[in-house]
Order: sequence, then C-alpha cells, then structure tokens
Amino acid sequence: MATLDNYKALRDEIDAATIQLWDEHQSNMACKKGCDKCCLNFDVFPIEFDYIKQQVEALYPDVLNDSAPAEAGEQCFFLKEHQCTIYKARPIICRTHGYPLLYMNEAGDQWELSHCELNFTSVDEDYFHEDNCYAQDTYNSRLFMMNKEYIKTAHPDKGEFDLIPLVELLK
Ligand code: SF4
Repeated sequence: MATLDNYKALRDEIDAATIQLWDEHQSNMACKKGCDKCCLNFDVFPIEFDYIKQQVEALYPDVLNDSAPAEAGEQCFFLKEHQCTIYKARPIICRTHGYPLLYMNEAGDQWELSHCELNFTSVDEDYFHEDNCYAQDTYNSRLFMMNKEYIKTAHPDKGEFDLIPLVELLK
C-alpha cells in the first residue's frame, strides 16, 4: 500500500535531481527569488494534497487562517508579495519549474522538451540531452501509480485521475 512516506521519498528524490540540474544549468537560467511567472493555480493528486496539508499545518499554520477565495484566480493563492508562503511544502510541479522538462508527445512517438522562455536563451540546439533534462514522464508515472494505490484506502470516493485544487487546503 502506498503511504505519505512513499510520496515524501519520491519528492526527496526529485529535489535531489533538480539540485543536480541547477548545478549544471544555473548559468543559463533566469530563475530568481521574486520571479513568479510559474505560480499558477495548480491541482494535485490526493496523496500530494494530504502530505502538503500535513506539512503546511506543521510549518505554516498561519497560512491556514486565510479564507478560501470566492473564486480561484489564475495565480496561485499561496503567492504573496512575489513569494511562496508554503515554500517548503510546495508541490512537485513547483519544484521543477524553469528546468528543461523532457516528456513524450501526445501521440507517444516523439520526445518533446519544454522550459521557461526566460531560460536557455543562448544555448545551441544540441545543448540538451537525455541526461541533463528532468524526466517528467518517469516521475509523473511513478506519482500516478503511487496515488492510485493510495486512494484505494485513503480516498475510496476518488478516481485515479481526480485532482484536488491546492487552494482547498484552506477548507
Ligand atoms: S505553491 Fe508556492 S511555488 Fe507553487 S505555485 Fe503556489 S506560490 Fe508558487
């Protein structure tokens, strides 16, 4: 059975992978404190939501005193004055922003690469290769399978594709 500890282990692994990517790519990345172009209103799998909730309750209890917005905007509710108010608990998607992301196209026949338009503005086409990109599909598949197991007992009312808006932390 998948547990929140399994999620934590995967997240730690992803953090380690992104630290390596930062070491390799930082000179080509414009990411810095205060840039919040990536901070959109995300939905997450229940296993991720439950772990983040636990962490926010422990680390950022004041954040939970806010009321949920009547209508969620495009920007993440937890972004205040250009800073993440739940930084240590932020979802996996937020931890991979800015890095070169490698994933399979919808047809499943070609690898595609994406990164923030502010980054990698002066690299050659052959700069990227399999080993210096974030393997998005691999990690997402592992998270998907882990969540699928987790919801069987923790959220039997949910289906394997159901997501929870992060802003529901406030409810
Ligand atoms: S959780 Fe934090 S890092 Fe993620 S989108 Fe919201 S403000 Fe940005």
